Amino acid sequence: MNIDLHCHSNVSDGALAPAAVARRAARAGVDVWALTDHDQLDGLAEARAAALDEGMRFVDGVEISVTWRGSTVHVVGLRIDPGNEKLAAGLAAVRGGRLERARAMARDLHAAGIDDAYEGALGRAENPAMVSRTHFARFLADIGAVADTRDAFRRFLVPGKPGYVPHQWAVLADAVQWIVAAGGQAVLAHPGRYGLSAGAMDVLLQEFRAAGGAALEVVTGSHSADQFRHFAALAAQHGFAASRGSDFHGPQEGAEFGTLPPLDPRLRPVWRDWEL
Ligand code: AMP
Ligand code: MN
Ligand code: MN
Ligand code: MN
Repeated sequence: MNIDLHCHSNVSDGALAPAAVARRAARAGVDVWALTDHDQLDGLAEARAAALDEGMRFVDGVEISVTWRGSTVHVVGLRIDPGNEKLAAGLAAVRGGRLERARAMARDLHAAGIDDAYEGALGRAENPAMVSRTHFARFLADIGAVADTRDAFRRFLVPGKPGYVPHQWAVLADAVQWIVAAGGQAVLAHPGRYGLSAGAMDVLLQEFRAAGGAALEVVTGSHSADQFRHFAALAAQHGFAASRGSDFHGPQEGAEFGTLPPLDPRLRPVWRDWEL
């Protein structure tokens, strides 16, 4: 069974509407599919209807932005109740401030010789309140300032480069608790992306576990084959379940549905107790 539990629609920083993402997942052979937009649940109803139309099983998801010891980390919530008020209130608080941050990012890019980035990014965001670095990356690629969005995240938008503006996201334990309160399982997304030392990762995993975290994302489009093995070992060692998801954002924007290897069968999958 092909299970893909991480991706984005244009409700956050994906390129396609939720129903179009569902169709793409189904065409790629996905059987069980979760939409996990950043800090937003608005795409879930459309995604669920389209998924069922396509004959897939659907999982309500979200990906929460967290600031942990100065680093941004992402926590995916799976099988959350989209009607849960605690989760909705938490996400609303996390979403606030994106427009102001975008203005500061545009000022910084202007100082680096890139004009009109605020309008450029907002014009590419379906929902301006969810404007993200990805929309800036698409703008930079469209005007030819960078070769593609990948290049944009190398030369701009990351710590130490023009257009990066630090932001305070949710507290780790809060994000996990909102997910648990909404009946979901909390998954630490793409842990290999954070550039943490082994010691810091160990502390993060302990804090994540203490907060009620359930799983690590082991197989993700953000990880190399070496990282699949490394985080499989860490999941086993720390007693976490394991998850799998492409982190699809759009055509020609990195990971695609249906291309990742399965989870190592020795791992306990996050879906083990789901009725599939
Ligand atoms: P934001 O929440 O506005 O900080 O934007 C974060 C988003 O930017 C992530 O969810 C990714 O979609 C994208 N992103 C961050 N770093 C990279 C990277 N190095 N390459 C490509 N996309 C990235
Ligand atoms: Mn994203
Ligand atoms: Mn992420
Ligand atoms: Mn993601």
